[in-house]
Amino acid sequence: GPSLSNPLRPVLLAAARSPRLEKTVAGMGLTRKVVDRFVAGEAEPAAVSAVRDILTTGRFATVDYLGEDTTDPAQATATVDAYLSLLRSYATLSESIETPRPLEVSLKLSALGQSLPGDGAKIALSNAHRIVTAAEEVGAWVTVDAEDHTTTDSTLSIVRTLRRDFPTLGTVLQAYLHRTEADCREFSGPRSRIRLCKGAYQEPASVAFQKSAEVDASYLRCLKVLMDGNGYPMVASHDPVMIDAALDFAKQAKRTSEDFEFQMLYGIRDGEQRRLVAEGNHLRVYIPYGSQWYGYFMRRLAERPANLMFFMRSLASN
Ligand code: FAD
Repeated sequence: GPSLSNPLRPVLLAAARSPRLEKTVAGMGLTRKVVDRFVAGEAEPAAVSAVRDILTTGRFATVDYLGEDTTDPAQATATVDAYLSLLRSYATLSESIETPRPLEVSLKLSALGQSLPGDGAKIALSNAHRIVTAAEEVGAWVTVDAEDHTTTDSTLSIVRTLRRDFPTLGTVLQAYLHRTEADCREFSGPRSRIRLCKGAYQEPASVAFQKSAEVDASYLRCLKVLMDGNGYPMVASHDPVMIDAALDFAKQAKRTSEDFEFQMLYGIRDGEQRRLVAEGNHLRVYIPYGSQWYGYFMRRLAERPANLMFFMRSLASN
């Protein structure tokens, strides 16, 4: 795949981390059209309406309230409130639309205070606990996103703790990390939900595969472990090679379409999403919303030169 061989990838991923560039990009007066291609909107009603649209097409949804690397405890609390409000909307939505799988929220522990100095991990754990408790009350699932490798140990340790009370708590593992095949073995136990993705951050060679062929090979090894395990694999990729392999491995492991799901990002390969559903597979769309779209948006530009071209063209026509 082209993702890691995109020569602009390191530049864009470094830019994704720069508060100064964030201001510049915010000041460019990006048309909503550009951001809206990847983000459902800035406020909760836009997200809920995107969820409704996705559900009516037979797909499932997971919603991410955008934000990361919070340096302010009050902002972490505001993030918790956003999720609690969203979960109340889920309860209402579930009354009006049938869905054979629970709705899901996806959250980033760094948005819940994980990187605050001192007891950041504790704060993130207790914030996540509040969200997972509320989710359980409305019958929704929660999955913890994976961020850069400096957070992996802390994130997985928080997930282990939460799983004592909430065995179905999902977690994301990134195939580009050397450690992930072992993590897949640890986390593929009964009832566990694992979202396997390639990984979206800029990582050093000491911890991550650098060539896309190596990342792909690792993804296939990890996918095999998950499909042969006892958990519920969530195959998060737009890559036709990974998708075909998932169908193959599922068959070999005697899984039906009930026993795993595909996941793709909002606005990416919509036709392929519909095709997979038409063929009887379960597919969940990851729907981000909120005003903190900069980091998410830049990682999408880094993934694919075509996304970057789309962005450049819209700037030119502004
Ligand atoms: P790529 O390697 O980007 O692309 C491979 C091939 O897929 C391409 O060659 C092409 O054939 C096809 N393709 C890809 N995009 C398109 C397109 N727009 N149109 C047509 N064909 C296309 N990353 C994290 O680090 N942490 C997370 O928590 C996380 N959560 C995620 C959740 C979901 C539901 C998904 C889908 C991704 C998530 N990611 C996360 C991002 C992920 O790590 C990858 O960066 C991203 O999905 C791109 O990798 P890919 O597997 O889709 O394929």
